[in-house]
Amino acid sequence: MRRLLLAAPFAVLAAPAHASTGEAVNPWVALAYLVSGVFFILALRGLSSPATSRTGNRFGMIGMLIAVVTTLVTHMPQKVGDVANSYVGPDFASLGEILVAIAIGAIIGITIARRIAMTAMPELVAAFHSLVGLAAVLVGWAAYLNPGAFGLLVGDSIGAVSKVEMGLGIAIGAITFSGSVIAFAKLSGRMSGSPILLPARHVINLGTLAAIIVLTALFAMAGPSETMPLIIALTVLAFVIGFLLIIPIGGADMPVVVSMLNSYSGWAAAAMGFTLGNTAMIITGALVGSSGAILSYIMCRAMNRSFISVIAGGFGADDSGAGGGEAKEQRPYKQGSAADAAFMLEQAEKVIIIPGYGMAVAQAQHALREMADMLEEKGVEVKYAIHPVAGRMPGHMNVLLAEAQVPYENVFELEDINSEFAQADVAFIIGANDVVNPAAKTDKSSPIYGMPVFDVDKAKQVFFIKRSMGGVGYAGVDNDVFYMDQTMMLLSDAKKMVEEIVKALD
Ligand code: NDP
Repeated sequence: MRRLLLAAPFAVLAAPAHASTGEAVNPWVALAYLVSGVFFILALRGLSSPATSRTGNRFGMIGMLIAVVTTLVTHMPQKVGDVANSYVGPDFASLGEILVAIAIGAIIGITIARRIAMTAMPELVAAFHSLVGLAAVLVGWAAYLNPGAFGLLVGDSIGAVSKVEMGLGIAIGAITFSGSVIAFAKLSGRMSGSPILLPARHVINLGTLAAIIVLTALFAMAGPSETMPLIIALTVLAFVIGFLLIIPIGGADMPVVVSMLNSYSGWAAAAMGFTLGNTAMIITGALVGSSGAILSYIMCRAMNRSFISVIAGGFGADDSGAGGGEAKEQRPYKQGSAADAAFMLEQAEKVIIIPGYGMAVAQAQHALREMADMLEEKGVEVKYAIHPVAGRMPGHMNVLLAEAQVPYENVFELEDINSEFAQADVAFIIGANDVVNPAAKTDKSSPIYGMPVFDVDKAKQVFFIKRSMGGVGYAGVDNDVFYMDQTMMLLSDAKKMVEEIVKALD
């Protein structure tokens, strides 16, 4: 894969022509796009570890700057004189309009990035993906309505190859848009996270996908006067299938959907790169598309889900497993205080901390690090256990722990630490829930069944921090860990509870 990624930018120099029309591309432009492609690959490499992620981000920004400036310079708007087609020079007024639009976008982006809470990041990502999808649809339609401006005319009609690219770009873009809007609504709580399962949904989904493919083929072959109804039908059906693919996905499968939509947005951009004859967009789109697909696959493996099932739209989900709702059952449980917890933590030899979404909500990572430092000073071994889907976005916990400067060597992935719970004195669960729920191992009707979870029941003591017994995790199911003999519920806001434990340890 790495070799394939490294080879990608050389495609720019290997094929320096407009992908559809064969128009030659200036070698300096190709070189600039090559350099930006290399920066994007370095960015992906940097983002693969929290230690190098800032550098990775910077590489990505440099790559994007080079790509945007090159595109602006190459496609500088030109003035046309009074005599038809006579060249007058660069149209600085139009350029000014473009720069104003870029500035407005940058201000909105910077404001959102500064204000957004870490916990709202996943829905923000979904919202941004929807914009990439919508942009692809709009570019596709703009190219369809004004093919001359995009250099797509062969004689007096659009070339068949361009029409296939356009159809694909619009279809993938529309699927990305409506799918991302639903993901945004589910992740932000505007819509229930439970799967919505239509009867015969697989037949409807497959039928709609087949219709989109047939319409794309008909659109490519149709004469100029026949294309309009076909492209309208194609766009509408693609919007509908995006919606249909995401509504049946619920419970714990949303992380895969987020990374899958990330992948779709990349393919939509790549398809538009072909329409616009922009190699940088093709490379960037392909990088985003393939890295998103790889991430989706890795997450499916981590959650023991079939990749095909998830991308086919909740394949295998059945109505009995639909999550949602509150934990209704009232069973006896033990509740403790910060002083109880501090006393037992001090006595422990080995403590494993399992952070989850609630730690992010409470922003408890700094207090947690302070608590861990104090325990280590008292000779307690402290490790952090990170589940691949803990929180609400891939790497969510790693980012928060890195922000609190928790040493990377104390942070372990599920498969590396799960066997250590049997030797742990305390499993310290802070704001996690689904990722420690044993129903994933035992209850076939549970929406999280099959997802690997931490074996916290093997630890001698379990401390469970959450705000109330009524609250449930993302999948909306009760958790037997609350009621185990060795569990002590610490019911409070996570940051407040940890700060009180720190005080008691002091
Ligand atoms: P869960 O969503 O299962 O549980 C969160 C827990 O935090 C609840 O018990 C909640 O209980 C508690 N909590 C919330 N706020 C606070 C607070 N301020 N202080 C203390 N506790 C709090 O979290 P997990 O991390 O265990 O699991 C992640 C889930 O999210 C999985 O189902 C995963 O599939 C899904 N998901 C993951 C994504 C990803 O990419 N990582 C993306 C989308 C979904 P209470 O309300 O009582 O406080």
